Amino acid sequence: MWLSLALAIFVALPLAGVLLLILGLHGPRLDTLPRCARCLFETTGLAATAPCPECGADLSLSKAITIGRRRKRPLAIGLGTLLLLVPIAIFATAAAIGVNNPANNPSKPNWLLQLETHRSDARLAAAAITELTARIGTPAMSSDVAKSLLNRALAVQADQSTVWLPAWGDLVVACRQAGLCDPESYTNFVKQGVSIRTLPIHKVMAGHPFERSLEVKAPRLGTSAVPIRIDVSVTLGGIQHP
Ligand SMILES: [Zn+2]
Repeated sequence: MWLSLALAIFVALPLAGVLLLILGLHGPRLDTLPRCARCLFETTGLAATAPCPECGADLSLSKAITIGRRRKRPLAIGLGTLLLLVPIAIFATAAAIGVNNPANNPSKPNWLLQLETHRSDARLAAAAITELTARIGTPAMSSDVAKSLLNRALAVQADQSTVWLPAWGDLVVACRQAGLCDPESYTNFVKQGVSIRTLPIHKVMAGHPFERSLEVKAPRLGTSAVPIRIDVSVTLGGIQHP
């Protein structure tokens, strides 16, 4: 049933549209006078080598002269155009719905998903990034494409003015696992993604143990746990203690 409906929409409708357009543009002849094919100026009585007095066309060329004018049929032209536009509109709508459905992401090409990572809808952008991440290190994605995505993720992460999608962090981790992210870039990624704050202390008593708490947050990393190493050194009385 769906097949016959699709055939009707995408074959029969455009075909009928084309036929109606031909019929509309090729109406009945209004006269049988020889006319310039370009501007329909009547050429009766003109010398064989003379150009068209109206538009200057070279009338000695073949098919430069047509016989008679035809009356166009506006209704047939309008209906034919409509029948041609219906399948295009249906196709465009279906394509838009398909693009907006993340469930279709596995069947989308890399270039389309890369475009979708720029979408303002965070849910759709993150879904596209997640699908691209799944392709890293597989034959579905070249290492060049993966590296360009990695660079984009790091650039987005570095730009504090942009909203961070944790899916970008997962992409960086996947690149590292696939051996595409050099250690320096990865260290940079962790440094950029982590915020460390020392919590204030009010009083230190001489002879008492000195405690200082660190608050570690990872606002711009991925969704998975990332091991980090924090080296702390304390300077007391001008002497640095590692
Ligand atoms: Zn002419």
